[in-house]
Amino acid sequence: MATADSDYKNFFPAQRKTRLPGGYMGKILRVDLSTGKLLDLNLPEEPLLRKYWGGQLLAEYVLLNELPLNIDPYDAKNLIVGMTGPITGTGFTPGGTKMCFVYLSPATRYTLGRGATSGYFGTSLKTAGYDGVIITGAAQKPTYLYAGEDKIELRDASSVWGKGTRDTEEILRAESGHPDARVGAIGPAGENRIRAAMLVNDYNHTAAHGLGAVMGSKKLKAIVVWGTKRPPVFDKLNLIEAGLRWRKAIEPRKTTVKKRLTSVGHGEDWGAITKLNWRSTIITDETRGYDQNHVVLRPCFQCPRMCPWDVQIGEGRHKGKIGHFNAGSEWQDTFYNLGFKGNDVLYLSERINDLGIECSHFACGAGLAFEAWEKGILGSDRTDGLELEWGNLEAAENLLERCARREGWLGNILADGPKELAEALGGEAKNWVVHTKGGTPAQHEWRPLLSQMLRELVASGGMKPQGAGGKEPPADLLYREKWGPLDPNQPDGWTHSHLLTEQIRQACGVMGACWFALNDKPPDGVQSMVDSLNATTGWDVSLDETVDVGHRSIILQSVFGTQRGWIADHDWQDVGPRFLEPIPDGKYKGFTIAKWLPELVYEYYRISGRHEKTGRPYIDTLQRLGLEEFREWCQRD
Ligand code: SF4
Repeated sequence: MATADSDYKNFFPAQRKTRLPGGYMGKILRVDLSTGKLLDLNLPEEPLLRKYWGGQLLAEYVLLNELPLNIDPYDAKNLIVGMTGPITGTGFTPGGTKMCFVYLSPATRYTLGRGATSGYFGTSLKTAGYDGVIITGAAQKPTYLYAGEDKIELRDASSVWGKGTRDTEEILRAESGHPDARVGAIGPAGENRIRAAMLVNDYNHTAAHGLGAVMGSKKLKAIVVWGTKRPPVFDKLNLIEAGLRWRKAIEPRKTTVKKRLTSVGHGEDWGAITKLNWRSTIITDETRGYDQNHVVLRPCFQCPRMCPWDVQIGEGRHKGKIGHFNAGSEWQDTFYNLGFKGNDVLYLSERINDLGIECSHFACGAGLAFEAWEKGILGSDRTDGLELEWGNLEAAENLLERCARREGWLGNILADGPKELAEALGGEAKNWVVHTKGGTPAQHEWRPLLSQMLRELVASGGMKPQGAGGKEPPADLLYREKWGPLDPNQPDGWTHSHLLTEQIRQACGVMGACWFALNDKPPDGVQSMVDSLNATTGWDVSLDETVDVGHRSIILQSVFGTQRGWIADHDWQDVGPRFLEPIPDGKYKGFTIAKWLPELVYEYYRISGRHEKTGRPYIDTLQRLGLEEFREWCQRD
């Protein structure tokens, strides 16, 4: 709730007096689902806008000021705040697509929930004339929000309630009368409050980490956005120049069709994937049959990286089936983790996205169930007759449906999460589970990678984590960063590397850009992004200020958790034991971050200006970042 000295009541001015920086549409749509009231709010004045930019940071500030303490994530008082940034939708930069939603996480029930998405959803919200949405209350019956430049209204969603995300998108787009309208929808998983349900947009993008469950609790099936407006930009010529430099920086990261036909996914980069509930990492013939597929790369709005892709399966029992995916490939690791290979993986990945379940939530829960079946502590009496053999397609598909609808003992508890399943199974099963504070890490085999593991542990749980530092500083920051190269097998220096990357990636999202479009390693990778921001807005943001904006977002994220009982010690104490076990096989066999815990977690909090065990910011950290109004939540000694 608003802090004592907060100026929040004037945060959205009745009439703006200062210049609206370029890139912004100038309005936020406030929606009260309980009363049906729709209201346009003006964006904050300068210098507040320069301080909070947009995306996660601006959304966090609103949430911190409006969300009551001590409520359940499914209480109608839980708020969804979704924000784009000034870069979103100009069309002159790569990755100018991002929209970030924040809310109280249903996965952990006490930390920030954060779901971010790209594609065309955020850019189309801007074409409708809005920079963001604030959604409060709960509807009495299935409802969707139509936000178009022609009309803003709440509409009946009864005809699509119960449908998957693909059908919902088709039907509501047709209903809008605009073939280019964009739809962000929940599937049955969101309707049934699966704790990690997602919003799915443009077929191939997802805002995960429980956003779908909060929408379902509000009976909000979808948001449809449409318009033809464009954000104004301050200096078009300079923006084009900076955007071209940014494109050059990400050139090496462009996706290719060949990669989609041959790659096992992101884990190929370091040579490890999740298999058999995190009990094997070795890549064998998981890609078998991929080379028979037909793949088409899809762009996000004006982004050359071409991460999204469609597949038509070209062989085997799923021949002719279509799938729509984005870059991450966590869903591939999800089904490798259940013993699948080849096109079974792509087929099941399409099913999970249609149902709207976050893949790691299912991977860690179902993986535990399959292992418990193998070891004889879960029998058919609790699986409704399903035989949870590794790679059993019928069982996995059936379990997906049951989880999305909370059907049966196992479907219902999988919907709650892997931690809850481990507790229900009891005994040894408590040691076989992977979770982080009740949420789940992104589904990749991170355990050999120090910075990525640190990222997954210190993320506030049930949210998309940020960070993963490199062995050397970003080239653009060499003027201030004098360290490296770091040893991947030793902990020294990795907390700093991680924090710096987290700050930069946060800032990238806060300006409204996609972190997949950020290549912070080569010269001009970060500077071209910041120059794009300045040319768009008319600001003169420096690299140091960019890092500070990212830091501000990180601090508000943890203040939100502090308000609800989170402490930093939970980051290494409330973790499923399997996640901290030594790597079981393969080239990283025996490696574990666990021998350096909790010191790595403590060091991360210390160097980011927070107490190592409570995670509370020190007062000088708040002062440096202009966040003194949150001093009530700072570390006092
Ligand atoms: S980097 Fe990839 S996911 Fe991000 S906007 Fe570009 S194409 Fe989309």
